[in-house]
Parts: sequence; C-alpha cells; structure tokens
Amino acid sequence: MFDFIVSFINEVRSYFVPERIVYDIEGECNKCGKCCNYMYSVDTYTEKEFKIMQFLFPAYKRFYIKGKDDDGRLIFACKLVSPEGLCTVYNKRLPMCRKYPGKKTRFYAKFPEGCGYRIKHKNFKDYLE
Ligand code: SF4
Ligand code: SF4
Repeated sequence: MFDFIVSFINEVRSYFVPERIVYDIEGECNKCGKCCNYMYSVDTYTEKEFKIMQFLFPAYKRFYIKGKDDDGRLIFACKLVSPEGLCTVYNKRLPMCRKYPGKKTRFYAKFPEGCGYRIKHKNFKDYLE
C-alpha cells in the first residue's frame, strides 16, 4: 500500500518536472563583449514590438536590431559597447546587464561562442534525483 502511495505521488510530481528544471551556469566572463553585440529577447518578436518596447522603456533605445538568425528571430546589439567589447557606461549599465548571466536559468539557452560561461546540462539521472 505504501509503495502504491509513493508511486502515485511520484506520478503526480512527474507532471511538474518541466516546471522544475533549472540549469546551473558556471564559468566566468572573459570580457569578449559578444553578449552586448549579439542578443535575443524572450518577448520581442517583431520590429514593431521592439519599437513599442523602446517607447515604453527609453533606456532600451541603446539597443538596435542587428539582423535575424536563420529561424527569423531578431538579433539585437547595444550601441554602447566599444570596438574592444567593453561597456562604455559600465557604472551606469542596465540592471539586466548587471545581472547577466546570473547563476541559474530556466531556459535551455546557449551562450555566444567563446563566452567564458556555460550551462551545466543535466543528464537523465540528475532529473530522476
Ligand atoms: S559573451 Fe560571455 S565572456 Fe563574453 S562578455 Fe559576455 S558574459 Fe563575458
Ligand atoms: S549597456 Fe553596456 S553591458 Fe549593457 S548591453 Fe550595452 S554595452 Fe553591454
């Protein structure tokens, strides 16, 4: 009976696994500046949405649309990064820049090639635990 209850609880919990997945981020910044020159937005899909976002948040006027990737998703860059890849307003950079990339992410994201950070991907055993 006890085994059945445990199995039942685990079955119910399994439906929530995708919500619980969090990836650890490890590594350190090597100041290449790629993240300021090549970024995606999780909630801005069109040029029009980008203009609305800039209207609502004037601080985002520092960003511009650099192009699109092979899947048609917008790629953004910042006007305030130096040719050497350093932030020219480092002490006044946005909160999102200060927090980037954080210690954990809920997205199965990738860092730019050459970035000093990496996402610690979990294997099946990790998920079971
Ligand atoms: S891409 Fe990575 S290593 Fe390069 S500046 Fe950004 S956080 Fe640092
Ligand atoms: S404000 Fe500075 S840190 Fe933020 S994206 Fe622009 S150059 Fe990078």
